[in-house]
Amino acid sequence: MAVMKFGGTSIGTITAMKRAIDIVTAERMRTAPVVVLSACGGVTNKLIEIAESAGKSEVEKAIRLSGEIRAHHLELVDILVQEPSRRESVITAVMTYVSELEELIKGVDIVGELTARSYDSFCSFGELLSTTVFCQALLDSGYEAEWVDMRRVMITDDTFSMARPFEEICSKNAREAIQPLLDSGKIVVTQGFIGATKEGKTTTLGRGGSDYTAALLGAWLQSDEIQIWTDVDGVMTCDPRLVPEAKSIRVMTFTEAAELSYLGAKVLHPDTISPAVQQNIPVYVLSSHHPESKGTVITSNPATLEGTSYSGLVKSIAVKKGQCIVNFRSNRMLGRYGFMAEIFSIFARAGVSVDMVSTSEVSVSLTVSRTASLEAVLDELRNMGEVEIEPDVATISIVGDNLRTSKGVAGRIFTAMKEVNIRMISQGASEINVGLVVEENDVPKAVQALHHEFFSGNDTSSIFEKPADKR
Ligand code: ASP
Ligand code: MG
Repeated sequence: MAVMKFGGTSIGTITAMKRAIDIVTAERMRTAPVVVLSACGGVTNKLIEIAESAGKSEVEKAIRLSGEIRAHHLELVDILVQEPSRRESVITAVMTYVSELEELIKGVDIVGELTARSYDSFCSFGELLSTTVFCQALLDSGYEAEWVDMRRVMITDDTFSMARPFEEICSKNAREAIQPLLDSGKIVVTQGFIGATKEGKTTTLGRGGSDYTAALLGAWLQSDEIQIWTDVDGVMTCDPRLVPEAKSIRVMTFTEAAELSYLGAKVLHPDTISPAVQQNIPVYVLSSHHPESKGTVITSNPATLEGTSYSGLVKSIAVKKGQCIVNFRSNRMLGRYGFMAEIFSIFARAGVSVDMVSTSEVSVSLTVSRTASLEAVLDELRNMGEVEIEPDVATISIVGDNLRTSKGVAGRIFTAMKEVNIRMISQGASEINVGLVVEENDVPKAVQALHHEFFSGNDTSSIFEKPADKR
C-alpha cells in the first residue's frame, strides 16, 4: 500500500490534475493507493486573504475572492468531469462549498472579529474543494474511488492553525474508515492539512501540513511507502540556480535530510516526516512533471531498499545567505570559566539565535542572521571586550552521513576552496556536516568548486542523477 501526496502545484491546473490522475492510476496497477491532496496552488493563500478581509469587514473583497476560487474549480470540472449527472453533482458540490465559505464571511463580518477557529474553517475549503474535484475526475475516467472526509479520521487538539492529532484515536479511525475501502480495491482520496477536534470543529496542522498528514496516514495504515509528489526533481545536490550541474540525489538517510533542512535547504521538514521515520517507512520525493525519473528516497535504513545502493561521501551542499559574523575578543576570557555562558545569555535575552560557533582561548566567533535586535546584543558585548562585525556572509554546509568516517575530506574541501577566503569553519566530532563561512559574493565560486570536487567523479554516479529536463 502507498500513500501518495500531491502538492498544490501538482494538481492546481487542468494539465497538472490530469497528470496527477495518470500517476495515481498507474500506481493503482501495482498497489492500493491513498491519495492525499493539498489545495490547488495559491488557493490557501487566497483563503487567508479572504479570512483577513472578512475580519476587517471588507466583505466585498472577500466575496470577490471566493468567486475566483469557485470559478477556478468549475474550470477544472468543466474539462475533467464529462458524464452529465456526475458533472451536475460535482458542480453542485463546488457551489455548496463556496456558499458555505460566503456564509462564513458574513458570519465573521457580523461578529466583527476573526477567531483562530474560524480562520481554520476558512483554510479548510482549499483541500475540501481540490479533493472533491479530483475524486470525481477519477470516477469519470472509470476508476473506482472514494472521497473520505479527513475530519472523521484526523482528530486533533484545539490548537487552531497548529493542531496535533490524538494518534491512538486517529490510527483506529484510519484502520476503520480507510483500510476497508482499500481492501475492496478502491482508490481513496482525502485531504491533507485539515482535521477536527473531538467536538467536530475544523482544525489545521499548520502551513504545508499535507506532508505531515501523508506521513501520519502512512504510519497509521502501515503503508509500504510514502510518495511526496512535487514540482522539483527530488532533493538536489545543490541549488540548481547556483550550480547548473546540480543532480538529484537518489538515496539519502533521514539524518541527512533533517540536517539539510535545518541548514536552509528546501527539503521536507524533518518533523513532518518523523511519523514515517519512526516506523521505517521510506519517503519518496518525486516530480509530477517527470514521473519517469526516480526522485529521491529518504529512509532510515538504506540497506533494506531493493535496487538502490547507498554510498557517496558528500550528499548535498546547502547555502544560507543573509548571515553576519560577530567576532568577540577579550583577555578576560583567558583561564576563566562562565565567560561563554555570559556571552550566550546576552544573545538569549535579545532573542537572537546563534548558528555557528568557533572559539579559541581568548576569542569567539559566531554567526547570526541579520536582525534588528542584533544592535542591542552588540552594545552589551562591547562592555565586555572588543567586538567586530563582518556583514554579508553566507554559511556553506557540506552534508553526508559518511563524512564522519572518511579520511581526507577536509583536504579535498580546502583544495577546492583555494581561491576563496574562508572566514570561519566548523565541524563537530560526530557531525555529518562541515560548515564554512564565506563572503556572500564568493558563494557561487565556492559552491561550484565544491560541487565539482565532490560530484563530478564516476564513483558517485550511481546515486546521483541528472534532473529529467537536462537529460
Ligand atoms: N494547503 C496548505 C498550505 O498551503 C497545506 C499544504 O499545502 O500542505 O499550506
Ligand atoms: Mg505545500
